Amino acid sequence: MIACNCVVCTSDDPHDKRLRSSILIEENGKNAVIDAGPDFRYQMLRAKVKHLEAVVFTHEHKDHIAGLDDIRAFNYFQNIAIDVYASLRVQQALKREFSYIFSEYQYPGIPQINLKTIDHEPFTAAGIRMVPIEVMHYKLPVLGFRIKDFTYITDAKTVSATETEKIKGSKILVINGLQKEKHISHFTFDEAIAFAEKIGAEMTYFTHISHRLGKHQDISAELPDHIRLAYDGLALEI
Ligand SMILES: [Zn+2]
Ligand SMILES: [Zn+2]
Repeated sequence: MIACNCVVCTSDDPHDKRLRSSILIEENGKNAVIDAGPDFRYQMLRAKVKHLEAVVFTHEHKDHIAGLDDIRAFNYFQNIAIDVYASLRVQQALKREFSYIFSEYQYPGIPQINLKTIDHEPFTAAGIRMVPIEVMHYKLPVLGFRIKDFTYITDAKTVSATETEKIKGSKILVINGLQKEKHISHFTFDEAIAFAEKIGAEMTYFTHISHRLGKHQDISAELPDHIRLAYDGLALEI
């Protein structure tokens, strides 16, 4: 966190250097990212991503969409518009936040995107089949996505029984575990552990971690073997 002197923010451990939540999925040489927050540009540079076929949004909060403008680089090198998958509600927010992308007069060099509407039905982005899972972020519905036996959820506070069924059977679950203190719109550390046990994946990783949770090394020691903290740069084969 900017200007913070806490043990996490001043840690030398690279595992404690956390940018905003996002993942890159690669299948058959095609790349999709889930969310493009304010750190999107640096995340793409850091991971040396050379092409991008799709952006999929979970919800419209700024920490998940603010980086959309930087897909311009992919437009430039690939010479095509990039497919952007979002619910109608999220599309409204994108039109508000990035009005110039949608304006009648297209200033040269602005991002080129193809908006694709998603709801509760499975869809294919960058050739990758994704099953949306709707979770509640306090009162805001947010989408998580299941890809084969991998499920990625960033901003859950409550998950209905129907949606929980869609997650069950996942071998790898990524779920938000924000902090130990109560939070109105995010699973706490204990709630995330309870949810992980309920799903029973072979491995669960916590993401969307606040600096308030504590250092990677200390918190990892409190977790059972089948629950780990995710960290920037973590790569998994699914
Ligand atoms: Zn801090
Ligand atoms: Zn959010």
